[in-house]
Amino acid sequence: MSEWVSHPDQVDRLVRQWAEQYPHSLKAEARQQHSGRPVWALTVTDTRVEREKPAAMFYTPHAHEPAPVAGQMNIVSQLLTGAELDGTPTRLPREDILASVELCFMPDANPAGTAAAPVECWDGSQYTNEEFWAWMRGVDPETGKMWKRVGIWDDSVEDALPLRYGIVYEQISEHEYVEPNRHHRSSLFQWIFELRGRRTWDLALDLHQTELCGNTNTAFVIYPCLFDEQPPEIQEKERRWAERIIAAWDAIDGARPIRETKPLNYTGEQRQYFVDCWGDLYQDTVLLTTEIRNNSLICGAECQQAHNEAAIVATIEELMGE
Ligand SMILES: [Zn+2]
Repeated sequence: MSEWVSHPDQVDRLVRQWAEQYPHSLKAEARQQHSGRPVWALTVTDTRVEREKPAAMFYTPHAHEPAPVAGQMNIVSQLLTGAELDGTPTRLPREDILASVELCFMPDANPAGTAAAPVECWDGSQYTNEEFWAWMRGVDPETGKMWKRVGIWDDSVEDALPLRYGIVYEQISEHEYVEPNRHHRSSLFQWIFELRGRRTWDLALDLHQTELCGNTNTAFVIYPCLFDEQPPEIQEKERRWAERIIAAWDAIDGARPIRETKPLNYTGEQRQYFVDCWGDLYQDTVLLTTEIRNNSLICGAECQQAHNEAAIVATIEELMGE
């Protein structure tokens, strides 16, 4: 399998090296998060080809879901260097891609969270899901299990603080923490707003992982929670693109993608976070979420990596109109 690069120290080193070596095809920009770590936006395109290009953005909101970081890094490696991180020559038509589209990768929206994880890949061999969830949201001081899920919290006003803070939360000030895709003050949203101010984005791929408890599936695609209210032409594009991603997963050995794509099915408060944070964006954005199985022996590092890369490549192909 290809090399797995998700730790922020390794990501930073590679990005800085690439930015120096490939100035015509990589623009590496960073916003510094409160921890001091850079949150990268990597624009990959051939800047010498000066014409209007279709564009896609890719991002990983959640620090307990590192496979999309590794997947994005290996794709960026192929596009820039012509080889995977382990040296295998790429099969991607990289020159054609660089000349015809603009891609922006935000491999890790919360590097401090990723760096705090006890493992670089959650492959199910070391932690039960309950232990994993307590790493994700923190350890509840009363139950010893997973702490609560909120958009923002302040450790100077909480009654009972988690015994260990959850890695999903991004620290944004001395006392405040946000879940990156549930609050506009996160580095993720700051980057998305900045990028949307610069140009139109034809596709946005929101890369996640989840546990898929109770079944043996390896992946699925989700439409936005307000899919039914999106303009019909956006719905149509999302349908076609979702089918392409699922077809790409079908080509992976051992893959068992869920065939049906539905809108995000949260209710109540969790749904409201999405309506509040993403509602306006859904109106003019063709956006899909992918979920790859996490923390399970059914889908280890190689399986997680393959699914993420297939989804990214399918997105590039969709953008190129192939
Ligand atoms: Zn997630």
